[in-house]
Amino acid sequence: MAGNQIKSVAVLTSGGDAQGMNAALRAIVRTALYHGLDAYAIYEGYQGMVDGGNLIRKMDWDSVGGIQHRGGTIIGTARCAAFRTHEGRLKAAYNLVTHDINALVVIGGDGSLTGANLFRQEWSQLLAELVEQNEITAEKAEACAHLAIVGLVGSIDNDMAGTDMTIGADTALHRIAEAVDAIGSTASSHQRAFVVEVMGRNCGYLAMMSAIATGADWFLIPENPPDVDDWEAKLVEVLKAGRHAGNRDSMVILAEGARDRFGKPITSEQVKTVIEKGLGDETRITILGHVQRGGAPSAFDRYFTTLLGYAAVQELLNATPEREAQVIGIRENRVSSAPLMESVKKTQAVAEAIAAHDYERAMDLRGGSFKESYRTALTLMRAMPHEPEPGQRRLRLGVLNCGAPAAGMNTAVRAAVRLGTDKGHIMLGIRNGFPGMAAGQVQEMGWMSVAGWATRGGSELGTDRDMPTKADLYRIARTIEEHRIEGLLMIGGWAGYEAAYQLVKERPNYPAFNIPIVCLPAAIDNNLPGSDLSVGADTALNNIVEAVDKIKQYAVAAQRCYVVEVMGRYCGYLALMAGLATGAERVYIHEEGITLADLLADLELLKEGFRQGKRLGLVIRNENANPSYTTDVICALFGEEGRDVFDVRQNILGHLQQGGDPTPFDRIQATRLAARCIEYLIAEAEKSEPAGVFIGLQSGKVTFTDLEDLPRLADAVLQRPKTQKWLDLRPIAKIMSLPGL
Ligand code: ADP
Repeated sequence: MAGNQIKSVAVLTSGGDAQGMNAALRAIVRTALYHGLDAYAIYEGYQGMVDGGNLIRKMDWDSVGGIQHRGGTIIGTARCAAFRTHEGRLKAAYNLVTHDINALVVIGGDGSLTGANLFRQEWSQLLAELVEQNEITAEKAEACAHLAIVGLVGSIDNDMAGTDMTIGADTALHRIAEAVDAIGSTASSHQRAFVVEVMGRNCGYLAMMSAIATGADWFLIPENPPDVDDWEAKLVEVLKAGRHAGNRDSMVILAEGARDRFGKPITSEQVKTVIEKGLGDETRITILGHVQRGGAPSAFDRYFTTLLGYAAVQELLNATPEREAQVIGIRENRVSSAPLMESVKKTQAVAEAIAAHDYERAMDLRGGSFKESYRTALTLMRAMPHEPEPGQRRLRLGVLNCGAPAAGMNTAVRAAVRLGTDKGHIMLGIRNGFPGMAAGQVQEMGWMSVAGWATRGGSELGTDRDMPTKADLYRIARTIEEHRIEGLLMIGGWAGYEAAYQLVKERPNYPAFNIPIVCLPAAIDNNLPGSDLSVGADTALNNIVEAVDKIKQYAVAAQRCYVVEVMGRYCGYLALMAGLATGAERVYIHEEGITLADLLADLELLKEGFRQGKRLGLVIRNENANPSYTTDVICALFGEEGRDVFDVRQNILGHLQQGGDPTPFDRIQATRLAARCIEYLIAEAEKSEPAGVFIGLQSGKVTFTDLEDLPRLADAVLQRPKTQKWLDLRPIAKIMSLPGL
């Protein structure tokens, strides 16, 4: 406990509520307790800190149990005028010191974090005043001489610099996508136009990402208004062209802060009128409003906020009076910290740039991947592709799915087909994986052939897990020659990677394979090398979390332990992340193995927990965790030996994990990766020895790894990468589960 000698950690939620705040609260309290600190929750935001009394409550392990699945914040949030005054902050300081609290986690937006920073800066002065007024003793003041603070950003808008995602933004995207998907089906039945308004006063993240995720026809964001004087005419032109091309409906998504080039707000009413006049279509408006804040948090907003809460307490433990206050967020797919006030200032700079109509600066401040997504979105929603450049080389690029179906495969195919076509190339869809390719099932895919694919689960092209035989290889080579395929994009899982590897290895024997080949990871198990995440895993995780929510609701009435078996083959990713997201007491994965001693120890701890009043136990087991200690065996053992204290039920989730429409995250990821794959194929096609690679996201960066490295990076028998970064999260999962487990 270097530096600050903190004794008690307090946490408060402030400003607008966001889904995932509860998971953060749980993690903060439990991490603090784990480190032997007292944990306090301050109810009703800063108001509770100013008013004190019953609004500052000591928390124990159980007081934050069973809250991860709940939206909002169980400790309440408020806006507090008093905290903006010196008087208010003096009272707040008094209340903290009398509870021996000198470490604070504030979960809120930029306003709340600004307030927290000010409070910290004033802290010594506030304590001196309290001593002078005889409110506290000099010893008390000395004991709490420094206030350590750390911020977590709770904001559904994803509007904060210093973190790639804010707490609640992923869930808000879920709510928007659910609504837009639902509206889309009625819109297309009636050939109507819909205008959907989403939140975001100064941030277009939700509008832009939901437009990408739902395949909308047009979107409007505050940072980058349409770059024409007459946006109305442009909108009508685009939607008309879309109808002409075959769209049965038109969907426009606008952020609440949308505006034109001159800074004049664009309202949903205006957009409706423009469409009705221009297209003569009946147009409906849906303002999603607070729906976006509501409902159960997504899997990401549960497991990631858990990691953030854990990291926040670590930051407090390491804080020194000299170290600037930090905000903890996610950067490059990892928990990271950034100086709090710098992040607040950058966030405010975006708002200032928008107010000054300096849209270029606003986009620059948002950063590279925001701009990249913007460009991709503009292309995807074109009614028709650009005409090929005169005299340009028009490549013939094949796209296929391979391996088990994963949500997001269709989204990736759609993006690849449209982005490739828009660059003047000819896109060829190959049906039923490599066996289909061997059988010559190749078809040209036009712009409209993928309409509606962004949101659809499964694989429209058809996928297959069979490895190509020697004879197949010959036939695949024939197909490549006959259809003059000049580049290949395989979107799929393990079988696809192995098959692509074979093609690369067989290049000396089959010159036809000497074309660029790129694999895009799409597998629910997240068991592919070269990428931290594969497309489809987020959907599967959300399917698991939703199922477990239901199971838990049912089980809570009795003293019962559920053993839930999840997919993953030999890869424990889904099991561990589901365990973090659902608050499982124990996770069994193949990477760790299971011994009888483990099972007996876990059984004793569960029994003890139930004896002390626990009503529900949850154990998650990866399907291949151990060949002998199967789900049946574990249930039988726990059932028999725990009989006096609790009963046991098993639940094998099975194929529901693979099903359903892709989550927004999977759709966005699929689109982003497909865009890069197409660029890569085009560039490699110019080379005499084109590469064979798999694309991935590693530490937030898009990377390409040689297919030749597959055997070095992955275990062919267990079909998983030899190094799996997510395994580092196991200790955190343990800290969050039953004490002692
Ligand atoms: P958000 O945190 O979501 O941006 P607000 O801007 O409304 O929400 O801030 C929430 C609360 O944080 C305010 O009601 C106030 O109590 C406190 N706060 C905000 N800005 C300041 C400030 N500059 N000084 C002190 N307290 C502030």
